[in-house]
Amino acid sequence: TTDILRVDGLSTRFFTEQGQVNAVSDLDLRIERGEVFGIVGESGSGKSVTARSVIDLIESPGRITDGEIWFNDDGLAEAVADDHPEAVDGSFVNLLEVPERVRRSLRGTSFSMIFQDPESSFNPSLTVGEQIAEAVEVQRRASANPRSTRAKTREYSLGSLVLSTVLPSRKYVSEASRERAIELLELVGIPDPVERADEYPHEYSGGMLQRAMIAQALAGEPDVLVADEPTTALDVTIQAQVLDLLDDLQEETGMTILLITHNLGVVARMCDRVGVMYAGEIVERGTLEDVFDDHVHPYTEGLLGSIPDLEGPTARRAADDRAEKPRGGGRLEPIPGNVPSLLDREMGDRCYFADRCPKAMEDCLSHPPEYDGAGSEEHEVRCVLATREYTEARALPTDYFGKAD
Ligand code: SF4
Ligand code: MG
Repeated sequence: TTDILRVDGLSTRFFTEQGQVNAVSDLDLRIERGEVFGIVGESGSGKSVTARSVIDLIESPGRITDGEIWFNDDGLAEAVADDHPEAVDGSFVNLLEVPERVRRSLRGTSFSMIFQDPESSFNPSLTVGEQIAEAVEVQRRASANPRSTRAKTREYSLGSLVLSTVLPSRKYVSEASRERAIELLELVGIPDPVERADEYPHEYSGGMLQRAMIAQALAGEPDVLVADEPTTALDVTIQAQVLDLLDDLQEETGMTILLITHNLGVVARMCDRVGVMYAGEIVERGTLEDVFDDHVHPYTEGLLGSIPDLEGPTARRAADDRAEKPRGGGRLEPIPGNVPSLLDREMGDRCYFADRCPKAMEDCLSHPPEYDGAGSEEHEVRCVLATREYTEARALPTDYFGKAD
């Protein structure tokens, strides 16, 4: 497997009047091409900020203050190598080292995003079909040149004047793009797509608009689809249908999905690997089995405890068992306490879960837990319990610690 994205030491802060909010701190992430990677955590854990950072959607007063975001794309690497050699490493490009206009050119074509709230993706005064056709048109023009990424970035590198000519205005949307829009609506399961293409967003139900948003996101044939709580607002039956749709589309297109959710049921059903986020850090990550069956971090334990019926021999099986019936959205509120405020917090000076952790000890407050392996190669945990001494201790008979553990 090849990595499509490597995030190194990412920190994203918001500079507010109340102070500095360290929403994401020193975060590492590796996403393989074609996988579904889940980021799970309570609200306020920094998972959406992480996703938005990756695709350059952080707006003032937020700013990425540190880190590297390496995107694996031969064409892009070739296109920027001359002007920004420091941003290129083999086929990887550090997106934080290339000009804003280059990053912007990747939106919709290399990266697309879908949200909880589809209304935000559509202009209420244009038909759904027009808006999807427009997204198709952007992609068509960008790939008119077979060395498409180069074409895109070269065009964009000429400045905003050219940018405005690359983005079509509606009246120039071609018949081919309109036809493709209808195909896309059909692909995502919109009935009567020819007629529905001419309807306005308000004429769609919530579930249908969610599908239309997915169609719009797919118009540019993205390499990476970022899905931020894509089904949270939907009722459970529709939720299951939309997840099935994403799963099918992923399989068909081979695209990579970065899925942001608070719902472990969604993770179990969709993801290959998962990162558990708490207070701006990934505290545990690994394969689905690592995290569901062999988790070490007490926070992961707490999250899983909130949906006890998900714990089983393997999460996959648990997910399969329930594939038939739609699953509830159950919010995670079982762990006493709240995600700590990230306002003016010091970075990495201690474990931020300590206030809520049933296993907290002195070590946890005196130094920050580093990532440590916990068994399998992929499995990493940021908790003193994952250090060597504790790993050895865990291997002891379970009654070794008596009730204390
Ligand atoms: Fe709990 Fe300590 Fe681990 Fe933090 S480092 S999760 S306080 S045991
Ligand atoms: Mg799949």
